[in-house]
Amino acid sequence: MALNCFLCPNNCKIEDGYFGVCGVRGAVDGRFNLPYNGLISAISTDPVEKKPLYHFHPGKTIFSIGFFGCSLSCPFCQNYRISKEFPAPSDAEPKSPSQIVDAALKSGSFGIAYTYSEPLIHYEWLLECLKTARTAGLKNILVTNGYINPEPASELITYIDAVNIDLKSFSEDFYQDVLKGRLQPVKDFITLASKHTHTEITTLVIPDKNDSEEELEQAAGFIAGLGKSIPWHLSAYYPSYKYNQRPTAPEQLISLAEKVSKQLNFVYTGNIAGGISDTLCPVCGNKLIIRTGYRTLTSGISSGKCTGCRTDVSSFGIIL
Ligand code: SF4
Repeated sequence: MALNCFLCPNNCKIEDGYFGVCGVRGAVDGRFNLPYNGLISAISTDPVEKKPLYHFHPGKTIFSIGFFGCSLSCPFCQNYRISKEFPAPSDAEPKSPSQIVDAALKSGSFGIAYTYSEPLIHYEWLLECLKTARTAGLKNILVTNGYINPEPASELITYIDAVNIDLKSFSEDFYQDVLKGRLQPVKDFITLASKHTHTEITTLVIPDKNDSEEELEQAAGFIAGLGKSIPWHLSAYYPSYKYNQRPTAPEQLISLAEKVSKQLNFVYTGNIAGGISDTLCPVCGNKLIIRTGYRTLTSGISSGKCTGCRTDVSSFGIIL
């Protein structure tokens, strides 16, 4: 008997003994089989800037965990060993949400980041962990492809304190032909997130694939429509998984970031040396936050205000 999964817009019909597109949600005897729930692919403590989140507790470190599987099929995946070519669940020891929360508390971190691969497909485990972490006074950070149906998204978002969502392209064709997904549900999740929680967006810029000025200007317009101060991270691509396209040239990435900055207050470049990483006050241009690699100095902020014009930085969505 086949089982329908309506967690993400793939809406898989899973035959008995098989898994859905994500590779982690299966069916046995007409019921969900979730052997990857609680299997952690990586645990680390990272600068929050590495997620990337530049406006959420800048300079702090965050306890971070990763999972297996993914609901999209990006041929350029930079983490394909945990998203697509991951091992069978047999040997690994599952962790309970309580164990993860205890470990996060022991680490002294202010929260937990669910990151490295796609957290949303482990929905039941994730939701329990989000609730347990909240009760323990920890912040919840989600790093995601944003590919989720509206109903589970609405429940989940109330437990999220900050999210970084991949906007992998602004072309419906690219989402359908290359990623085997759809753009509109991701736009819907970004819209939902921007209304409920601290939201930043990341786009991996791939030469000759999603790097046209026109497309990026359209994406900037969409983001600006939700909030001009939503940070947008334009990240350089490097050959990975099934793609051997040339890497994104740093000068191209910087030039694109400067162009779309006309629509948004905060556009950053990532994955290149010497890019755009400092946070400038949109009112007076003062350097609020200076970043050198993952070293972060909030020297342009005093008592929550810009040292140049005294504007409260929370009015730009910066959470200290
Ligand atoms: S979460 Fe997995 S099984 Fe469920 S619809 Fe999405 S890809 Fe299919």
